[in-house]
Amino acid sequence: MAEKFTAAVVEEFGPTLNIRDEDLPEPGPFQALVKVHASGVCHTDVHAAEGDWPVKPEPPFIPGHEGVGEIVKLGPGEHELELGDMVGNVWLWSACGQCEHCRSGWETLCDKAEYGGYTVDGSFGQYMLVDTRYCARIPEGADPIEVAPILCAGVTVYKGLKVSDTKPGQFMVISGIGGLGHIAVQYAVAMGMRVIAVDIADDKLELAKKYGAEFVVNAGQQDPGEAVAEYTKGGAHGILVTAVHPQAFGQAIAMARKGGTIVFNGLPPGEFPAPIFDIVFKGLTIRGSLVGTRQDLAESLDFYARGLIKPHVEEIKLEDINDVFDGLIKGGIDGRRVINYQ
Ligand code: NAD
Ligand code: ZN
Ligand code: ZN
Repeated sequence: MAEKFTAAVVEEFGPTLNIRDEDLPEPGPFQALVKVHASGVCHTDVHAAEGDWPVKPEPPFIPGHEGVGEIVKLGPGEHELELGDMVGNVWLWSACGQCEHCRSGWETLCDKAEYGGYTVDGSFGQYMLVDTRYCARIPEGADPIEVAPILCAGVTVYKGLKVSDTKPGQFMVISGIGGLGHIAVQYAVAMGMRVIAVDIADDKLELAKKYGAEFVVNAGQQDPGEAVAEYTKGGAHGILVTAVHPQAFGQAIAMARKGGTIVFNGLPPGEFPAPIFDIVFKGLTIRGSLVGTRQDLAESLDFYARGLIKPHVEEIKLEDINDVFDGLIKGGIDGRRVINYQ
């Protein structure tokens, strides 16, 4: 009989996962079997379980794309990694390496990409497979619990900040101070930007202040466009939207300075009003940004390894996953919850 392991599985779309036994997978070429030590829980896992997006995963599947663990078995062929190495699964689980996007340094846009915890089983289980060409290399000595959120939240906001083209000394609004946003505040501060945090929960804004935000706005109580325009005397140079409500996407336009860049990381289902006049007359750039390349991942992990980023984490057990999903849906989770498998 095949060896088994315990995992949280989406059996049908909805917010409830089932804890059940799965067959241990066999690593194929370029793959490794990893014993998972820790996994962050991203809001994307909720979207995946709910089937929120136009491109849907196929139940049954195991979510999770912030998994950290050790290689216990290597598939056939040559690998740059060895047994015992600490690695991570990420959203960009693999890409083709051959297409126009892959060749031009935009592997995140590869049409043949596989997504961890979405098109390939993820890290909400005691074991997972990774592609040894695309998995994260965990810095030596890193605490698996603390480093896990860098694998999605960290690399995503790091890349988002890079493509915002905002310079040191300029204003950067982080809209949405959840798992992604509280880490975005830290990267933006480390990059020398003047950080403004926007959320609808005061405790999230307190966390942002702790990490160096110089001004905060509760968008539930105040018009964030007016507040930011007044504080910055004309609007912020960069806006990174990580919020899970479409309203925040529309508000970004009012918060932007003339010539500013708005980067969308958040992925709530839905649409937002985009006033054409404001976008044209302010000369705004609005761009989407999806996770990051392997190079972005290495750079974002290096910031962590140098002590510049410290995710706010709380450990949970795999059995607590449905409570955490409930908390994410209600907006009640500060920082990141991370499953401890040890
Ligand atoms: P989270 O639930 O931890 O945080 C979301 C935050 O948004 C919360 O703090 C909440 O209070 C805040 N929020 C809700 N409504 C708001 C509003 N109107 N204005 C301002 N803030 C508001 O979620 P997370 O794990 O940080 O993920 C955030 C989003 O980013 C999700 O949609 C997720 O799917 C997406 N995501 C995208 C990428 C990417 O590559 N683009 C990667 C990871 C996650
Ligand atoms: Zn994620
Ligand atoms: Zn490709």
